[in-house]
Amino acid sequence: MGIQIKNVHLLDSPENERTDIYITGDHISGIGKEPRGFSKDEVIDGSGRTAMPGLINCHTHAYMSLMRNYADDVPFAEWLFERITPIEDSLSSEDAYWGNMLSIMEMIRTGTTSFVDMQMFPRMCVKACADSGMRALITRGLVGEGPGDEGGIRRLREAFDEMEYGKASGANVEFALGPHAIYTCGEAYLRHVTELAREKGMKLNIHLAETEKEYRDCLEEHGCTPVEYLERLGMFKSHILLAHCVRLSDHDFELLANPNVFVVTNPASNMKLANGFAQVAKMLECGIQVALGTDSAASNNALNMFREMNLLTMTQKGAREDALVLSAEETLKIATRNGALAMGREDLGTLKTGSTADLILIDEKSPNLMPRYNMKAALAYSASGYEVSDVLIGGRIVLRDRNFITIDEEQVYYQVSQIADRYK
Ligand SMILES: [Zn+2]
Repeated sequence: MGIQIKNVHLLDSPENERTDIYITGDHISGIGKEPRGFSKDEVIDGSGRTAMPGLINCHTHAYMSLMRNYADDVPFAEWLFERITPIEDSLSSEDAYWGNMLSIMEMIRTGTTSFVDMQMFPRMCVKACADSGMRALITRGLVGEGPGDEGGIRRLREAFDEMEYGKASGANVEFALGPHAIYTCGEAYLRHVTELAREKGMKLNIHLAETEKEYRDCLEEHGCTPVEYLERLGMFKSHILLAHCVRLSDHDFELLANPNVFVVTNPASNMKLANGFAQVAKMLECGIQVALGTDSAASNNALNMFREMNLLTMTQKGAREDALVLSAEETLKIATRNGALAMGREDLGTLKTGSTADLILIDEKSPNLMPRYNMKAALAYSASGYEVSDVLIGGRIVLRDRNFITIDEEQVYYQVSQIADRYK
């Protein structure tokens, strides 16, 4: 299958320059010049469009869109343990499939082409990715006390079973191990999961230093900060994604500047649950690798990476009282290239010959993007996300002229409404 995107503006080119992108199979086979032997099966008119790498949402819980706008304006502990967990426990796997599909729809519609997920229903996430064409790094959320804890071991076994299922499915999915947090996993369990990850060369994905309470409790229980605790457990010897990192000591900043460690910041969720602001500008100054995530639709309440980019740059400029931090260019890089590296995917987050063809087109003729001085500023500061017109994942068109190609939109709305009726 060969796709030519004609006369399109590339985000990294001079403002008025336009070119053609050639896609063969799942990758970009040429830019500007038609590759030899190119077979043109489909042409997309890129006039009035800007092409950029698809956005990468490095932290979410896709099935949780079923709880969007269900529990708002309540404190964190009440939100999680009294409102969200009881619903989670009552969901069937079919419910979770529709929750995953709804999230994937929202992400595709707003230009996200990959996401990193912590799931209770990994199989349904795999299925939703297979059906929609979406790409994901999936982790089964792991909670447990130690190797003798039956529930914890069962969840680990499930994680590996689901991985086998996922590998056989042909979907664009990879797997990592996802111990939920230091307050839901005992030390022995974390050590066990860490060992498994090292043994099998798997990545790790965990929530860390999200709340003041978590930070204080860790100091009391372990005599060190959450970051120091993971370092002590040897978790930074594996490729690891740390969601949040809002509460950090000066020493923590030093420990996080490690080539294996990727901090995933979630500004909307941190603000909405009143957990504060991650010091992302300082992280970047310290050489820490930072990617961006939305967290779940239950705590954000959107899975829109354009909105998230805007919140990231605005909050950092405001909190640091420094207009120079988190430029539009840096913010876009965090949401694309840094996300790709956090997923361990060198081939994503960039538009060049040989890259995997995960890319999006933006409709330049949108009132909020005019006049056209600086497209990067327009995308970081003015865009809503709904200017995205076309989305390709692995060379497959999944959104064309704002229409879903792989998803039956009405069916998803219907199913999700049926599920929500049970909780009203
Ligand atoms: Zn989370």
